[in-house]
Formats: sequence, C-alpha cells, structure tokens
Amino acid sequence: MIRVNSKLPHVGTTIFTVMSQRSAELGAINLAQGFPDYDPPERLKALLAEKVRGGQNQYAPMAGDLHLRQQIALKFGRVYGVEPDPVAEVTITLGATESLFSAIQALVHPGDEVIVFDPSYDSYEPAVTLAGGRTLHLALQAPTFSIDWTQVREAINGRTRLVILNHPHNPTGAVCSQADLDALADCVEGTDVLVLADEVYEHLTFDGRRPLSCAAHPRLKDRTVSCFSFGKTMHATGWRVGYAIAPPELTTELRRVHQFNTFSIASPIQAAIADFLKEEPAFSPGLSGFYERKRDYFLKALEGSRFRYTKTPGTYFQLLDYSAIANCSDMEFAERLLVDVGVASIPISPFCRTPSKLPLLRFCFAKNESTLAAAAERLRIL
Ligand code: PMP
Ligand code: GLN
Repeated sequence: MIRVNSKLPHVGTTIFTVMSQRSAELGAINLAQGFPDYDPPERLKALLAEKVRGGQNQYAPMAGDLHLRQQIALKFGRVYGVEPDPVAEVTITLGATESLFSAIQALVHPGDEVIVFDPSYDSYEPAVTLAGGRTLHLALQAPTFSIDWTQVREAINGRTRLVILNHPHNPTGAVCSQADLDALADCVEGTDVLVLADEVYEHLTFDGRRPLSCAAHPRLKDRTVSCFSFGKTMHATGWRVGYAIAPPELTTELRRVHQFNTFSIASPIQAAIADFLKEEPAFSPGLSGFYERKRDYFLKALEGSRFRYTKTPGTYFQLLDYSAIANCSDMEFAERLLVDVGVASIPISPFCRTPSKLPLLRFCFAKNESTLAAAAERLRIL
C-alpha cells in the first residue's frame, strides 16, 4: 500500500460534519452545525434563477463581480462610516473559509507565529500549519470570554506575523468592544504584525451592541484583512460566497493566492446578491433584531430546565452550562445529549488546544421557532 506523509496528521473530520452526520443518522434535532433551517429571502432566490436563465453562467472576474464589490463597499460605508475601494480593497471568495485560508497562505511564512484565542474556530490552525507557521494559543477569559490584552502584548515577539481575531466569537458569542479594538491597535502599533479579523457574524450583535470592524478602525485598517460571509447574512450557507476587505497591498497578496486557489466564485450567485443588496439595503443590518428574537425565544422555551446560561451577546450560538445536570466532559455530555435526548450540539473542546474543562455546549438558534421549541422540550427533561 502506498504510504502518504500527511501534511496535517492531527486533523480529523470537523466536529460540525461529524455532529451533523450523526444527528441525521439518529434522527436528532440538529442544533450543532451553524446553519439556518429556513431559506434565503424569496426575492434573492428569484434573482438567482433570473441570473442563471439570463445567461450569467460563465467565469466571474477573478476578484469578483464589480457590481457586487461596489454594493459591498457601499454597505460597509453605511454601517461603519469608512468606504473601501471596491476595485482595490474588496475580493469575493468562496465563503469566509476561503478568505481566511487564502489570507493565511498569502501572509504567513515558514517559521512565523500566529496568535489565536482559544476556543478558536477550527479552520485557523490547519491553514497556519500548511503555510509553515505555528499557532500560539491564548485563552479567552471565562465566563465572559474576554481577551486579556496584557497577555497579548507579552506574547507578541519578533516572529509574530498575525493575530487572528474572531468577533463576534464562535463558539462563545463574545463580542468585542471599541476598547478591545483600541487595545489590539495598541498591541500591534510599531510592529509589522498583521490582523486577520473573522467578522462573519458582524450583524449578529444584540441588546443594543453595534457592529464593529477592524477594517474600519483608524489604527487597524491599514494592517487588517477582514473576512465576511453571505452564508450568515443571506441565510445561504450552501451558496458559499464570502468576501475579504483589506488595504490594496494586502489585497494584492490575498489575490495572488485566491487566483490559484478558487480563481473566481459562482457568477450568477454574485450577480443575484449584488442586486439584492441594492434593493434591500436594510436586510443584513436587520439581522440583529431577527436573531435577538430567536435567542430570546429559545431561552424562554428553556425556562424550567436545569441548564444555566448567560444570554449570548452575539452570533447565532448560545452556550448552555450543564454543571447542574452532569459532571462529565463536554465531549461526553454532547454524546449523551445526542444519543439519549435526541439533540445535537457542539462541545467546546475541539476548539481548544487542550480539552475544555468548562461544562458548556454550544447550541445554534438559527432555526424556526418550531425546531427551537421541540429541542427545548427535550432539553427540559434532563
Ligand atoms: N468563521 C467562523 C467563525 C464561522 O463560524 C464560519 C462558518 N460558520 C466561517 C468562518 C466560515 O464561513 P463560510 O461558511 O462563509 O465559509
Ligand atoms: N461555522 C459553522 C459552525 O460553526 C460550520 C461550518 C462548517 O461546517 N465548516 O457551526
């Protein structure tokens, strides 16, 4: 048999894929992998059909459909007060996964160090490893999962190339404040350290919190690649369209990788989203209220259960604390919940370098009320 020298020997199948598969096999309610159980807006679906029928079926430009990039720049300007140049600073990618991957391949050299915050989204470390870099894992501070900026300042050294900041944060829902972004700017000032900001949940901030972007921060924007996803903002995770906003020098490097990674992204989808953004400028900013109501509905439905929680400030994920129900690891409890109760969730340990000791599971509430009610009913029996 042929022997393969794996470049990622420690990487298995992602917890999202594993949980979704097992949930389907067991007929469980899937609050694990983050995706809505409802469709994109009807108008957007109609636009996509129109674009396909109308002949928009060949390669899109490598950097993305210009009309879409213009609409993104306008939207970014409306939300954050700084308008990126659609030609030189916006690149359409295959979901945020590709923005992140291409940015890391473009910016990280062998031997470079990359700071990530645990629990950290699972795609960062393998991408850094493939680039020949090394991740340095700093722990977020439970229970609020805030960042200890003194730790960051102390961790930065001559080999540090990149800080990867995911906010609003998956899996904890933590949201950065203006003071956090200012602290990051202080930490990197006077260094060559770059920032990769994973901002896919930009509009999912609750209880009056406003979205913030590193790509709009006066002292960060010249060194930041910010990554976004229409999967989240259009209820279309399966369309696989995202984008990166970065200053021209960083965009040039990102595109050097992007053009040989995916080259360009599905053209009718880009054209449809561009028209939709123009017609419905309030759609994505309106997601904050939409998901806040879902969060509150789910938590109300959980009343009387033995799970404890702090309302999630952002994302479409809610952490639930099971310490009043069981005294076991998050991996074990997620398994028990799946098999005995019929609800799939995501444990935190796969997002951490060392297994999480916290009695927490992540539940996705991007679901219809009927799904959330059915799941809560099962969770209340424990
Ligand atoms: N970053 C985070 C934090 C995510 O949660 C996700 C997807 N759920 C992504 C990146 C990838 O986004 P996409 O599906 O657009 O590739
Ligand atoms: N980001 C999604 C989540 O957190 C999953 C995406 C994936 O499966 N790659 O659930």
